Amino acid sequence: MHDYSDQVVALTAALVRPDIQQMSAYHVPNAAGLIKLDAMESPFPWPGDLQQQWLEKLSTAQINRYPDPQATDVKRRIRQVMTVPDAYSILLGNGSDEVIQLVIQALAREDAVVMSPEPSFVMFKVIANINRVNYVGVSLTKDFALDIDAMLNAIAKHAPAVIFLAQPNNPTGNLYDLQAVEKIIIATPGLVVLDEAYSAFTDRNHVGLLAKYPNVVVMRTVSKVGLAGLRLGLLIAHPGWIEMFDKVRLPYNINLLTQLSAEFAFENYGQLQALADIICQQRKELADQLEQIGRVEIWQSEANFIVFRTLSVNARTVFEKLKEQGVLVKCLDGAHPLLKNCLRVTVSSFEENQYFLTALKAALQSCG
Ligand SMILES: *Cc1c(COP(=O)(O)O)cnc(C)c1O
Repeated sequence: MHDYSDQVVALTAALVRPDIQQMSAYHVPNAAGLIKLDAMESPFPWPGDLQQQWLEKLSTAQINRYPDPQATDVKRRIRQVMTVPDAYSILLGNGSDEVIQLVIQALAREDAVVMSPEPSFVMFKVIANINRVNYVGVSLTKDFALDIDAMLNAIAKHAPAVIFLAQPNNPTGNLYDLQAVEKIIIATPGLVVLDEAYSAFTDRNHVGLLAKYPNVVVMRTVSKVGLAGLRLGLLIAHPGWIEMFDKVRLPYNINLLTQLSAEFAFENYGQLQALADIICQQRKELADQLEQIGRVEIWQSEANFIVFRTLSVNARTVFEKLKEQGVLVKCLDGAHPLLKNCLRVTVSSFEENQYFLTALKAALQSCG
């Protein structure tokens, strides 16, 4: 066997887009052996008998056949569970990451601009970059609210083709003021994607805005309610938008196992929502107990995670000390100036939250 590594290095240097050569692949930290509180996953497996019933459903899969390209049964279930009015259509993606990609690819006219407040979900920028679409980030205020004047100025200057607003926002956990959101929707000539990745953990629902504005679509995912492994995201929009995004979508993007599992999940969605409700109770508990520690500043969250700032202690040191004790959180320090000394912890089961709190106290104490 020939060792072609040198030739391959030369070929990639010559052939791969220079901007892609400069990029680094999306990094996921190794969590082996750690309590994983870094990625907003649910700590709960299928409840009760569902594991067995799910496997039975999967055993019917005709894996030699292509899946339904429209995933009709999944969409029908979503329509019921999420009470999507008949006037709107649904697009499915391999996670909402793929939905973001479809939207950006469809709108990637020459000189198009993708806009988002910052800090927010990094994939908005990453996917714009991969598709060679200009990206403009507009800083939030220091309490993580929309800086409405800055947003309106940026909209006037760049006329974005699309603005992504995560409601609630990741990594900050808060909801933006609805009036500010509507001002942005009215001011922009482009599309506004309301990213409701955390819809199971908040009462806020923006589907009603579709009846008020032609330039609004709502994106959701099942990743945060116990199905991160499934990779299923969705877009609810006026049919005219979906028709366009559907042209960019690869025909069988939702594989058969995901379709069957998603049908099953939506048939039993009440049980998943009940687990999400437990997480919301735990969020309150965890926030109260974090407050009591005293040496951290915490932010109100409408999602399944909490952001806090370590006071008079370096957050990176705390992050490392948590890891030494077997707990993986997300260190936000360095990601954006507003996130100085901030850590983000996923709200988990009572037991894992207690373990985290004990480890955090120990970490803070050992910092003196
Ligand atoms: C987690 C998250 C998503 C994405 O998820 P998928 O797992 O790709 O469905 C999208 N938007 C925000 C704001 C998120 O936090």
